[in-house]
Amino acid sequence: MTDNTLYEYKQKRDFEKTQEPVANKKKEETLREKYGTPLFVIQKHNASSLHYDLRLEIDGALKSWAIPKGPSTDPGEKRLAIETEDHPIAYALFEGIIPEDHYGAGSVLVWDIGTYSTESEDSLKDQYEQGRIEFFLQGEKLTGGYALIQAKLGNKDENWLLVKTDDEHADARRNPTTTETKSVLSGKTTEEIEEAFNAKDE
Ligand code: MN
Repeated sequence: MTDNTLYEYKQKRDFEKTQEPVANKKKEETLREKYGTPLFVIQKHNASSLHYDLRLEIDGALKSWAIPKGPSTDPGEKRLAIETEDHPIAYALFEGIIPEDHYGAGSVLVWDIGTYSTESEDSLKDQYEQGRIEFFLQGEKLTGGYALIQAKLGNKDENWLLVKTDDEHADARRNPTTTETKSVLSGKTTEEIEEAFNAKDE
Protein backbone atom coordinates (compact mmCIF):
# COMPACT_ATOMS: atom_id res chain seq x y z
CA MET A 1 0.00 0.00 0.00
CA THR A 2 1.31 3.42 -0.87
CA ASP A 3 1.04 5.77 2.07
CA ASN A 4 0.47 8.70 -0.22
CA THR A 5 -3.11 7.94 -1.01
CA LEU A 6 -3.97 7.73 2.71
CA TYR A 7 -2.39 11.04 3.65
CA GLU A 8 -5.66 12.95 3.51
CA TYR A 9 -7.46 10.19 5.42
CA LYS A 10 -4.93 10.44 8.25
CA GLN A 11 -4.84 14.24 8.23
CA LYS A 12 -8.58 14.44 8.79
CA ARG A 13 -8.69 12.15 11.83
CA ASP A 14 -7.43 11.97 15.40
CA PHE A 15 -6.97 8.25 16.02
CA GLU A 16 -6.93 8.72 19.78
CA LYS A 17 -10.50 9.98 19.55
CA THR A 18 -12.12 8.02 16.75
CA GLN A 19 -12.32 4.24 16.52
CA GLU A 20 -11.91 4.36 12.75
CA PRO A 21 -8.97 2.17 11.69
CA VAL A 22 -5.57 3.13 10.41
CA ALA A 23 -4.11 0.69 7.87
CA ASN A 24 -4.20 -2.69 9.62
CA LYS A 25 -2.69 -5.81 8.06
CA LYS A 26 -4.51 -8.20 10.36
CA LYS A 27 -7.94 -6.77 9.58
CA GLU A 28 -7.02 -6.75 5.91
CA GLU A 29 -6.20 -10.46 6.06
CA THR A 30 -9.47 -11.20 7.85
CA LEU A 31 -11.33 -9.37 5.10
CA ARG A 32 -9.52 -11.23 2.34
CA GLU A 33 -10.10 -14.62 3.92
CA LYS A 34 -13.77 -13.91 4.37
CA TYR A 35 -14.63 -12.09 1.16
CA GLY A 36 -11.77 -12.27 -1.35
CA THR A 37 -10.41 -9.49 -3.53
CA PRO A 38 -10.90 -6.86 -4.87
CA LEU A 39 -13.27 -5.75 -2.15
CA PHE A 40 -16.17 -3.39 -2.27
CA VAL A 41 -18.15 -2.03 0.65
CA ILE A 42 -21.11 0.30 1.01
CA GLN A 43 -21.40 2.00 4.40
CA LYS A 44 -24.56 3.78 5.51
CA HIS A 45 -23.25 6.91 7.21
CA ASN A 46 -25.67 8.94 9.29
CA ALA A 47 -23.52 12.08 9.52
CA SER A 48 -24.72 15.71 9.39
CA SER A 49 -26.64 14.42 6.38
CA LEU A 50 -27.36 10.77 5.70
CA HIS A 51 -25.47 9.21 2.79
CA TYR A 52 -24.03 5.94 1.57
CA ASP A 53 -20.27 5.60 1.07
CA LEU A 54 -19.36 3.33 -1.83
CA ARG A 55 -15.76 2.12 -1.61
CA LEU A 56 -13.94 0.10 -4.27
CA GLU A 57 -10.55 -1.48 -3.71
CA ILE A 58 -8.27 -0.07 -6.40
CA ASP A 59 -4.50 -0.25 -6.21
CA GLY A 60 -4.21 -1.02 -2.49
CA ALA A 61 -6.72 1.48 -1.10
CA LEU A 62 -10.47 1.97 -1.00
CA LYS A 63 -11.45 4.63 -3.53
CA SER A 64 -14.51 6.31 -2.04
CA TRP A 65 -17.65 8.12 -3.13
CA ALA A 66 -20.42 9.57 -0.95
CA ILE A 67 -23.85 8.94 -2.47
CA PRO A 68 -26.54 11.12 -0.86
CA LYS A 69 -29.46 9.02 -2.14
CA GLY A 70 -27.65 5.69 -1.99
CA PRO A 71 -27.33 3.11 -4.76
CA SER A 72 -30.32 2.22 -6.95
CA THR A 73 -31.21 -1.02 -8.72
CA ASP A 74 -33.12 0.95 -11.38
CA PRO A 75 -31.06 1.59 -14.57
CA GLY A 76 -33.16 4.70 -15.16
CA GLU A 77 -31.84 6.37 -12.00
CA LYS A 78 -28.59 8.33 -11.99
CA ARG A 79 -27.25 8.82 -8.49
CA LEU A 80 -24.80 11.58 -7.65
CA ALA A 81 -21.60 10.12 -6.17
CA ILE A 82 -19.17 12.64 -4.70
CA GLU A 83 -15.59 11.44 -4.56
CA THR A 84 -13.99 11.61 -1.11
CA GLU A 85 -10.56 10.70 0.24
CA ASP A 86 -9.11 7.19 -0.12
CA HIS A 87 -9.69 4.93 2.89
CA PRO A 88 -7.54 2.03 4.16
CA ILE A 89 -8.72 -1.49 3.24
CA ALA A 90 -9.42 -2.22 6.93
CA TYR A 91 -12.11 0.48 6.88
CA ALA A 92 -14.45 -1.99 5.17
CA LEU A 93 -15.04 -3.60 8.59
CA PHE A 94 -15.69 -0.35 10.42
CA GLU A 95 -19.08 -0.03 12.01
CA GLY A 96 -19.84 2.22 14.96
CA ILE A 97 -19.87 5.84 16.04
CA ILE A 98 -17.59 8.68 14.98
CA PRO A 99 -17.63 11.05 17.97
CA GLU A 100 -19.11 14.54 17.96
CA ASP A 101 -16.89 17.38 16.77
CA HIS A 102 -14.86 14.97 14.66
CA TYR A 103 -14.73 14.59 10.90
CA GLY A 104 -17.76 12.57 9.74
CA ALA A 105 -19.41 12.57 13.20
CA GLY A 106 -22.33 10.15 13.29
CA SER A 107 -22.98 6.43 12.92
CA VAL A 108 -21.55 4.05 10.32
CA LEU A 109 -23.15 0.74 9.37
CA VAL A 110 -21.81 -1.82 6.87
CA TRP A 111 -24.77 -1.90 4.50
CA ASP A 112 -23.24 -4.23 1.91
CA ILE A 113 -19.90 -5.93 1.35
CA GLY A 114 -18.36 -8.36 -1.12
CA THR A 115 -16.08 -8.49 -4.11
CA TYR A 116 -16.42 -6.95 -7.51
CA SER A 117 -14.95 -7.50 -10.97
CA THR A 118 -14.64 -5.80 -14.31
CA GLU A 119 -14.97 -7.15 -17.82
CA SER A 120 -13.16 -4.21 -19.34
CA GLU A 121 -9.69 -4.75 -20.80
CA ASP A 122 -8.53 -1.65 -18.95
CA SER A 123 -7.37 -2.11 -15.37
CA LEU A 124 -9.53 -0.67 -12.61
CA LYS A 125 -6.86 1.95 -11.98
CA ASP A 126 -6.88 3.02 -15.65
CA GLN A 127 -10.67 3.14 -15.67
CA TYR A 128 -10.61 5.27 -12.52
CA GLU A 129 -8.09 7.64 -14.05
CA GLN A 130 -10.15 7.85 -17.24
CA GLY A 131 -13.25 8.75 -15.25
CA ARG A 132 -15.37 5.77 -16.15
CA ILE A 133 -15.44 2.52 -14.15
CA GLU A 134 -17.60 -0.39 -15.25
CA PHE A 135 -17.91 -3.07 -12.63
CA PHE A 136 -19.92 -6.03 -11.45
CA LEU A 137 -20.86 -6.28 -7.77
CA GLN A 138 -21.08 -9.56 -5.91
CA GLY A 139 -22.57 -8.38 -2.64
CA GLU A 140 -25.18 -9.62 -0.21
CA LYS A 141 -27.70 -6.96 -1.20
CA LEU A 142 -26.44 -5.69 -4.53
CA THR A 143 -25.37 -7.81 -7.47
CA GLY A 144 -24.87 -7.03 -11.13
CA GLY A 145 -23.32 -4.37 -13.28
CA TYR A 146 -22.84 -0.71 -12.36
CA ALA A 147 -21.00 2.20 -13.90
CA LEU A 148 -19.39 5.16 -12.19
CA ILE A 149 -19.00 8.05 -14.60
CA GLN A 150 -17.13 11.23 -13.80
CA ALA A 151 -19.26 14.26 -14.58
CA LYS A 152 -16.55 16.17 -16.42
CA LEU A 153 -14.24 13.87 -18.28
CA GLY A 154 -10.61 14.86 -18.27
CA ASN A 155 -11.25 17.37 -15.53
CA LYS A 156 -10.58 17.02 -11.82
CA ASP A 157 -14.22 16.91 -10.90
CA GLU A 158 -15.32 15.27 -7.66
CA ASN A 159 -18.82 14.67 -9.00
CA TRP A 160 -19.52 11.29 -10.52
CA LEU A 161 -22.76 9.47 -11.35
CA LEU A 162 -23.55 5.92 -10.28
CA VAL A 163 -25.82 4.08 -12.71
CA LYS A 164 -27.10 0.51 -12.64
CA THR A 165 -26.40 -1.42 -15.84
CA ASP A 166 -29.54 -2.72 -17.52
CA ASP A 167 -28.89 -6.41 -16.91
CA GLU A 168 -30.74 -9.36 -15.37
CA HIS A 169 -30.05 -7.96 -11.88
CA ALA A 170 -31.71 -4.63 -12.63
CA ASP A 171 -35.04 -4.07 -10.86
CA ALA A 172 -36.81 -0.73 -11.08
CA ARG A 173 -39.29 -1.67 -8.34
CA ARG A 174 -36.77 -2.74 -5.74
CA ASN A 175 -35.71 -0.05 -3.32
CA PRO A 176 -33.04 -1.68 -1.17
CA THR A 177 -31.99 1.40 0.82
CA THR A 178 -35.57 1.65 2.13
CA THR A 179 -36.47 -2.03 2.52
CA GLU A 180 -33.11 -3.53 3.54
CA THR A 181 -31.78 -1.30 6.27
CA LYS A 182 -29.78 -3.73 8.42
CA SER A 183 -26.02 -4.18 8.62
CA VAL A 184 -24.70 -7.23 6.79
CA LEU A 185 -22.11 -7.62 9.58
CA SER A 186 -24.10 -7.20 12.81
CA GLY A 187 -27.73 -7.31 11.68
CA LYS A 188 -28.26 -3.97 13.43
CA THR A 189 -30.05 -0.92 12.07
CA THR A 190 -28.65 2.61 12.22
CA GLU A 191 -31.06 3.37 15.07
CA GLU A 192 -29.89 0.34 17.04
CA ILE A 193 -26.22 1.29 16.66
CA GLU A 194 -26.97 4.84 17.81
CA GLU A 195 -29.20 3.74 20.72
CA ALA A 196 -26.58 1.30 22.00
CA PHE A 197 -24.00 4.08 21.96
CA ASN A 198 -26.26 6.61 23.68
CA ALA A 199 -27.25 4.09 26.38
CA LYS A 200 -23.57 3.45 27.14
CA ASP A 201 -22.98 7.17 27.36
CA GLU A 202 -25.58 7.86 30.05
MN1 MN B 1 -19.27 9.31 4.75
